[in-house]
Order: sequence, then structure tokens, then C-alpha cells
Amino acid sequence: MENKYDIVIVGGGTSGCACAYMSAKLGFKTLLVEKNNFLGGLMTGGLVVPVMKSSVSNLNCDYYKKLIETAKKYNAQITYQDGNDGWFNPELLKIVLDDILSTNEIRKNLDILFESNIEQVQHDNRNIKKIIINSNLISLCVESKYFVDATGSGEFSILANCDLICDTNTNQQNSLRFILGNVDINRFCDFILEVDKDRDITNTNRNDINNNESLELHFTTASTWDSTKKWALDYYLKKAVQEKILIESDRSYFQIFSVAKGDNQVAFNCPRINNYKYEPYKSSNELINARKAIYRIFNFTKKYFPGFEGAIITNIASITGVREQNRIKTRYIYTKDDLLNSKKFKTPVLRANYSIDVHSDKKNGSILQKTADYELPIESLMSYNYENLFVIGKILGADFLSHSALRVQKSCMSMGEGVAKFIKENS
Ligand SMILES: Cc1cc2nc3c(=O)[nH]c(=O)nc-3n(C[C@H](O)[C@H](O)[C@H](O)COP(=O)(O)OP(=O)(O)OC[C@H]3O[C@@H](n4cnc5c(N)ncnc54)[C@H](O)[C@@H]3O)c2cc1C
Repeated sequence: MENKYDIVIVGGGTSGCACAYMSAKLGFKTLLVEKNNFLGGLMTGGLVVPVMKSSVSNLNCDYYKKLIETAKKYNAQITYQDGNDGWFNPELLKIVLDDILSTNEIRKNLDILFESNIEQVQHDNRNIKKIIINSNLISLCVESKYFVDATGSGEFSILANCDLICDTNTNQQNSLRFILGNVDINRFCDFILEVDKDRDITNTNRNDINNNESLELHFTTASTWDSTKKWALDYYLKKAVQEKILIESDRSYFQIFSVAKGDNQVAFNCPRINNYKYEPYKSSNELINARKAIYRIFNFTKKYFPGFEGAIITNIASITGVREQNRIKTRYIYTKDDLLNSKKFKTPVLRANYSIDVHSDKKNGSILQKTADYELPIESLMSYNYENLFVIGKILGADFLSHSALRVQKSCMSMGEGVAKFIKENS
């Protein structure tokens, strides 16, 4: 069986869905290949609930607007008090994404293969010709004019023997996110607003709620073992370590948010785990350690946080929270100096201002450095090795530090959309 497309996108996650939407909307015969049985990647399976707030003057945001509009229809989104509208319910988002890619306008040009993995890449010197996909044990040979690697890991590019960017021994830590249900969020907010009086790390919309009962109560709070701030929750985390309910590394990063339309659910952006990029046995063991940590944190919250007494574990992410794994060599490798100097480019695909954000395993090793608006050029998404291969999302061609800013969801979506529009304008 042989299938021919204009654009094939491998990976139906954050960036891949944006690319597939825009590609089909622009009239390209498009195939989206996803190894899970749902779309969204880290946004859904990874339980990465908030889209980080970034520049308002972003380029290529049509898909993001569609996402918000459709999520509203399904009651799967809220807008936070700082104006960030990117708070989604991760389970409902799976249905939202199906809907966005299933409208008549899109579906007439788009095929989706779930539970399908790329197995082989066939190429000549500078062009990818065909790929072999294993779709539920059926082998499919697919031909296309353009290919897009949106796998998050760079699996496609690695199968095609593309060069990788190897510029650092530093790793971003991974996380395995989870959600607790049956939490009395009102009681917890009373507590957190009492203990964190300066509101340095805690946000709730409690005051807005008091004035408008139709609003949903929403909060965020955090603590790390870095000494950049006086963390209000640190006292409780330290005490739990003394009482052997937590271990020291559990203090490295603790961040929780209420879940949009999740009623009594709380999402955790922790525990952090080691990123053993090139050591598969150790990586697998880290997942066992992560689940042990989740169980410790679960017991910690039940004992220390009013409102969590009856909490239950409702979700553990089915996709590991890998912040950075492989970055693929592209025609232009974007650098931290480009970002910090707000360098201008002829063909920018995104404009953003999210900070340099490195999660380290060392105390005080993490970096959060604010930036002005910056642009990313299309050349940082164009494969160095092949004329018809693009790489989008967190595998883009950037150095370690600039990657830590560019990897956020809104930017990944702009990359996907930008590539589809670039192909339209240049083919
Ligand atoms: C712990 C953590 C916390 C984060 N917090 C935030 C945050 O608060 N806000 C924010 O904006 N960003 C955050 N980020 C960053 C952001 O979520 C990611 O960088 C972004 O979602 C990556 O998008 P992507 O498209 O590259 O990958 P993904 O969304 O992971 O998509 C990759 C897709 O490819 C599929 N795939 C992989 N291999 C294959 C294959 N061989 N064949 C077919 N399909 C395949 C996967 O199943 C997946 O669906 C966080 C990241 C992590 C890890």
C-alpha cells in the first residue's frame, strides 16, 4: 500500500497539531502520525497544564486562537487573572484537539494515524523520499514532498541520520507530573493565603471570586530549594523531610495549580527526576523513583495541607516530562545572544518573551532570566541535512540556553504554524 502526501507530520503533540491544522487549512494533502491513541503530547498525556504566558505580539497565533475558541466551547479552558488564557483541562483537551482537526474544512485535507510509529526513513543525498510507518502492526509506506519532525525526541531525524547539536554537558531535569482529586480547594486557599502573606509565590483569584460567584476558584503556588526567594511552603517541606515523610530531593521543586474546570483537582509540576539522556536502564529506573516520589508527596499534602485530607491520586502522566532531549542541527543554530539581543531576522516564525528557564538538579543551579521580545528565524527549523525536512517544537535548532526559553507551548505552536505557512509561500 502506498500513500502520497504534500506534508507528513510525525508527532501529534503541541507543535505537530498546530502544523497539521495550518497545513490542512492551507490546502495541503496532509498526514499526521501519532504514536499514542490521543493528540496533544505533553499538553494532554504529559499533564503540562498551563501554556506559559508569552509576548502578546506573537506571530503565527491563528492555531492558538482556534484552540482557545474550541476549548471554550467544551468548557475546557479558563483565563487567569493575569490575562493568560492558556489554562486547559488536560483530559478535555484531547477531545478539543480531535474537534479542531476534524472540522470539514480541515479533515478534507488531513488524515490522522493514531497508534502509529515511524520505523524507517528512505532518502537520497539531500531529500527524504519515503517513510515506513508501523500502524498497529500494519506496515505503511508513505511518500511526501515535505516531512516535519514533531516527535519531541527527534526520532524521525535520528532515523534519517541527521546531525544533532551537542553543545553542553548540562541537562534539564525531567518531571513526572500528576494530579490529585477530591481536594477542598477553598480550604487550601484559606491556608495558603494565610501562610504566604506577601503573595510572592501564590496567586489566587479569591477576591475576584468574592465579587463574582460565577468565576471558578483558581490558584498557583510553589517552592524550590533555591534561595532566590523566601518560599512560604519551605517550612512545611523541611519539616516533612525531618519527619521522613519526604526526602531532601523532594524539596528541589514543588509547584501546584488548580486544574481548569477540574473542580476539586490540583495539578503538580513535580517531582523532578534525573535526565539520563543516554542511559536507558537508569532512565527507566527514574520512572520508578518518580512514582515513589509522587506517593510521598501525596502523603505529605494529606498530612500538612488543609483541604487535602481526602485527596486521591487521579492521574499520573502517561508521557514523561522531558524538557530537553535532542536538539537537531538546522541551517541556523539560534543562540542565547540572539535571544538576549532581540536579534531581528528576515523570516521570523515566532515572537515571544518567555524567560530562559533551566531546571537544574543542583541547589541554586536553576536559571530563570527575564528577556525582552525575541524572534526565531525559519532557518532554525530547517534541517541542516535535508532540503525537505523541518524540525519543530522542543527539538528545534537552538543552543541549550535559548532552547530553555523557546521550548514553551505557545512558541512550539507558532513553530508548527509557521512552517506550514512558510512551505505555502515558498512552494
Ligand atoms: C515537566 C514540564 C513542564 C513544562 N511546563 C510548561 C509550562 O508550564 N508551560 C509551557 O508553555 N510549557 C511548559 N513545558 C514545555 C512544553 O510543554 C514542551 O516543550 C512542549 O509541549 C513540547 O512540544 P512538542 O510538540 O515538541 O512535543 P510533544 O508535545 O511532546 O509532542 C510530541 C508528540 O510526538 C509523538 N511521538 C513521539 N515519537 C513518535 C513517533 N516515533 N511516531 C509518532 N509519534 C511520535 C508523541 O507521542 C507526542 O504526541 C514544560 C515541559 C515539561 C517537560
